[in-house]
Amino acid sequence: MARYKDYNYDQMKMIPVSFERQILPGSFEYSLAYLIDNELDLSAFDQYYCNDENGRPAYDPRVLLKIIILAYSKGITSSRRIERLCRENIIFMALSADLQPDHSTLADFVSRSPEAVADLFSQIVLMCDQLGLIGKEMFAIDGCKLPSNASKEWSGTHTELKKKRQKIDRAVRRMLQRHCEQDSAEQSPGIQRHDEAEQIKKLRAVSRKIKRFLDTEPERTGVSGREVKSNITDNESAKIKTSHGVIQGYTGVAAVDSKNQVVIYAEAFWQGQEHGLLKPVIEGIRDTFNDSKSKSTLKKTKITADSGYHNREMLEYLEAEGVDAYIADTGFRSRDPRFKDHKEPRERNRRKDKERFTRSEFIIDRKKRTCRCPAGHALWLKAKRARIGHHLFMQFQAYEKDCNNCGLRKRCLRNEQQHTPRQINVALDITQEQKAGVIERMKRKIDSPEGRHIYSQRLGTVEPVFGHITDAVGIKRFSLRSKRKVDGQWKLMMMLHNILKIHRYGWEWA
Ligand code: SF4
Repeated sequence: MARYKDYNYDQMKMIPVSFERQILPGSFEYSLAYLIDNELDLSAFDQYYCNDENGRPAYDPRVLLKIIILAYSKGITSSRRIERLCRENIIFMALSADLQPDHSTLADFVSRSPEAVADLFSQIVLMCDQLGLIGKEMFAIDGCKLPSNASKEWSGTHTELKKKRQKIDRAVRRMLQRHCEQDSAEQSPGIQRHDEAEQIKKLRAVSRKIKRFLDTEPERTGVSGREVKSNITDNESAKIKTSHGVIQGYTGVAAVDSKNQVVIYAEAFWQGQEHGLLKPVIEGIRDTFNDSKSKSTLKKTKITADSGYHNREMLEYLEAEGVDAYIADTGFRSRDPRFKDHKEPRERNRRKDKERFTRSEFIIDRKKRTCRCPAGHALWLKAKRARIGHHLFMQFQAYEKDCNNCGLRKRCLRNEQQHTPRQINVALDITQEQKAGVIERMKRKIDSPEGRHIYSQRLGTVEPVFGHITDAVGIKRFSLRSKRKVDGQWKLMMMLHNILKIHRYGWEWA
């Protein structure tokens, strides 16, 4: 029969711990400690402390920064969890020199010093540059939409919020009325009434909160100048459409270098639409490298961004600044022969339009200017050259009598009740102004073999950075509120990414 060693949990053991020996050379925490202690200037944090003559000594920003970045590298952003790690985890104890800062100190440090974090981020980018980790051949710009510390249930325009408050007040009145009726009928108050009293208290607090918000906060307007939804919890966050549904959050934008995927600029914005965000990013890159307009890093480097950043104003700005940019438009893939069999997801999912006859099912002769529908009827030429936006179309329309008596109505018209006969637009050309314009120049540039080659590197440059932070590291949301603080947290995340790059590829130096 097998015999095993006896064991007993009811015993104690004293273990001598050298904090210094816990931080092993070659580990991420070693690189982090080395970088912060020897290479970075943290004097920007001094402005937040005014205890030079009075008050207790504060925790050293170096110590706080080390444990916060180490916690972020493990996907932990909660200050309470970081506090616990500093008490229980030997690496955190060693890195914090067993100072055990509490959660409010940690939370305060992250949320009150975004400007100092921005300064630190720039220092790390310049360090990556010195170490040769930045190639400056191509910078890819894109955004990552992350939820913030606010619920989308608390969003709405001022009118919607007013209605919500009225609804809550009505519910409170109804409950109070019921109580009065029970009192006059001298019914004994049951458990249900006690619960309702609690509910009334909560609803009144909510109503007061909405009123306070409506009284103090002006209506929020979007980039188009129209009112957008405000949020009571964090009014600087936005309702953003993502591939996983609508979130209440921010868009973290990053400019990433193609050589080693080092993030050279990062900023969080309170809007989901990205087409106005190129300008602040370009200016941010210039500030990071301390460039003047004439002697600029951007004069030599190519910029790529997806169709979310494509608009006339931005392209004109990039041309005026002399930036060699490659910005895709929404039709970029449809013009690329390599994607001729590829169907856009929107097209794949549009069941209704798939069932409906498309233009390809009509027999069109451009020279003779004739068109015949799937039912075999001839359509009449409505316009030889109709202008829609910046495009010119030849337009055909079916005869009303044909469509009214057609057995294929269901498959041809938008709905069976439609009275107007089917119309077909055949794209001819774009307008002269458009041909001479900046949009057409960008199309020609990006459709060239060189343009396609440069743009094809965009996806593999910027998207892995977001994948790394959200999936590999595991930070899937912002834990702070307000644009200023969220921007600081986004820069901390991107700083972590860059420090990991230094740790992996700049190791000889560290
Ligand atoms: S609905 Fe009109 S256009 Fe369509 S197939 Fe019938 S007749 Fe032709």
